[in-house]
Amino acid sequence: MAQNRKKTGTRLTGRIVLPGSSSYNMARMEYNRRFSKFPRVIVFCRRTQDVINAVKWARERGVRLRARSGRHSYEGFSSVNGGIIIDVSEMNQVRVDRRRRLAYVQTGNPLARVYRKLWDKRVTLPAGTAPDVGVGGLTLGGGIGLLSRKYGLTCDNLKQVKMVVASGRYGAKTIIANKKKHTDLLWASRGGGGGNYGISTAYTFRVRPIKMVSIYSITWKWRDLEKVFPTWQRWAPSVTNRLTSTIEVAAKQVGTIVSTGQLLGSAAELRRWIRPLLRTGTPVKAMVRTVPFIEATKFFAEGDLNLEPKFKISGAFGFRPLPREGVKIIRDFLSHAPNKHSTVWCQSLGGTGSAVSRVSPTATAYPHRKAETIYELSARWRNNGEQQRNIQWVKRFRRALRPFVVGDYVNFPDLRIKNWPKAYYGVNFPRLKRVKRKYDPHNVFRFAQSIPVD
Ligand SMILES: Cc1cc2nc3c(=O)[nH]c(=O)nc-3n(C[C@H](O)[C@H](O)[C@H](O)COP(=O)(O)OP(=O)(O)OC[C@H]3O[C@@H](n4cnc5c(N)ncnc54)[C@H](O)[C@@H]3O)c2cc1C
Repeated sequence: MAQNRKKTGTRLTGRIVLPGSSSYNMARMEYNRRFSKFPRVIVFCRRTQDVINAVKWARERGVRLRARSGRHSYEGFSSVNGGIIIDVSEMNQVRVDRRRRLAYVQTGNPLARVYRKLWDKRVTLPAGTAPDVGVGGLTLGGGIGLLSRKYGLTCDNLKQVKMVVASGRYGAKTIIANKKKHTDLLWASRGGGGGNYGISTAYTFRVRPIKMVSIYSITWKWRDLEKVFPTWQRWAPSVTNRLTSTIEVAAKQVGTIVSTGQLLGSAAELRRWIRPLLRTGTPVKAMVRTVPFIEATKFFAEGDLNLEPKFKISGAFGFRPLPREGVKIIRDFLSHAPNKHSTVWCQSLGGTGSAVSRVSPTATAYPHRKAETIYELSARWRNNGEQQRNIQWVKRFRRALRPFVVGDYVNFPDLRIKNWPKAYYGVNFPRLKRVKRKYDPHNVFRFAQSIPVD
C-alpha cells in the first residue's frame, strides 16, 4: 500500500540524469527509435552499491524500474515511462585469467569492447555480432554468433553471475550464483532472459584461446533464391561444428542473397567446405580470407551498422529445412516488402557435433537446443508514417511461416506473440516461475513479457 511506503530513505548514487538536464534526451533513448519513453530518472551506476541503492530507492517509493545495459531490446524493455532506468553501462571492467581460461566481465560492456579486451590476451567468448549490443542482455537470453556451433551460446560459457536482487519488503542485496550457490538462479540466467530476476552486475565466463580464423562471403542474385536457400539450409547444419554460417535474403528491390560464415581453420579448408554453396546458382561475388579473429568480429559487425533507426523484428527456430512452400513464402513476402530494408536472416545453430545441440533443452533455461537454424524477420524504417505497414508485414510474415518454424528466441522478443512463455521458454517455463517466486516474490522486476510470479 502506498501509505505504508517509507517517505524518506535511500538516496540515489551514481550519475543521475533527470528530465530537464541537457543529457536527458540521449540518456533516455533506446537503440530502437520506435520507442520514445520518458523515465522519471536515469541512474548510471558505477558500483554495485549504486545498483543496490537504485533498487531500494525505487522500491521505497513504489517506482517502476528497468535494468539497462546496451539498450538493444527489440521491444524497448529496458526503458519505462515515469520510472527509473538503472543503467549499468558505465560498469565495464574486464579482467582475464588466461591460465584458468576465465574472464570477469562487468555487464555494462558492449560486445566490441569484450572482444577487444579478450583479444589482448588472445582468448574469446562465443557471443553476438553487433558491436554495441550489451553483454548484459545478450548473455541472459542466450547469445548466438559465429562461434556458436563450436563453443555454444554465450550463456553456456557463463560460470558465475553477480546479481542485485530484491530483498525483504523494500531492500536489495547482492548475491552470487554459480555451480555451488544459487544454482537455480544460474540456471535461469542462462537463457531465461534479461530483466526478470534482478540486475546482474558481473559475469564470469569460460574463455577460449583464439588467433586466426577464416571467413567467407558469397553473394547471389535473387533469381537463385529457390536454389540457394534450400542448399544452404541442408548444408549449414551438416558441416563441421568449426563452421557457423548465415544467410540473408534482402527485399526484392535490393535483389541479393548473401551467405557469410566463419571457420576455425584455414582458408583452404574453408574453400573446400563451401564448395556446395559455390556450385549452387550463379554466385556474383565470393570472398574467402584468413584473418585475425578480432578482424573477423569487425567484418561481421558491418551487417549491423548504418541500419534504419526504427524496426520491428520477430524470430523463430527451424528444426528442419523449410519445404518448397516455405521458401515460396519468403519469396512472396520479400517481393512485397514495405521497403528495401526488409530482410530474412538465418544462422546455423545445430547439426553435426554442434555445441548448442549437445546441451539438453532443460540443462539451461534456453530450450531450443535441437533447432538447426534461427530466423529473424526484420522490417526497418525511418518515418512514423511507415510504422504500421512495417509492423503488419512482420506480423503477417510470421503467421505465414508458422507451419514450418517453432517458437522464438527471447533475445528477439515480439510483443505480438500471444503465447510468448511457450515460444521463448517451452518446457522450462514452470521452473522459471519457481525461480522467480524464490528470488523476486514481490515481482519488482517486471515488464510486458516478464516471467510472472504465479
Ligand atoms: C543490431 C542488433 C544486433 C543483434 N545481434 C545479436 C546477435 O548477434 N546475437 C544475439 O544473440 N543477439 C543479438 N541481438 C539481440 C540482443 O541479444 C538483445 O537485443 C539483447 O537483449 C540486448 O541486450 P542489451 O544489453 O544490449 O539490451 P538492453 O535493452 O539494455 O537489455 C535487454 C533486456 O535485458 C535486460 N537487462 C539489461 N541489462 C541487464 C542486467 N544487467 N541485468 C538484468 N537484466 C538486464 C533489460 O531490462 C531488457 O529486458 C541483436 C540486437 C540488435 C538490435
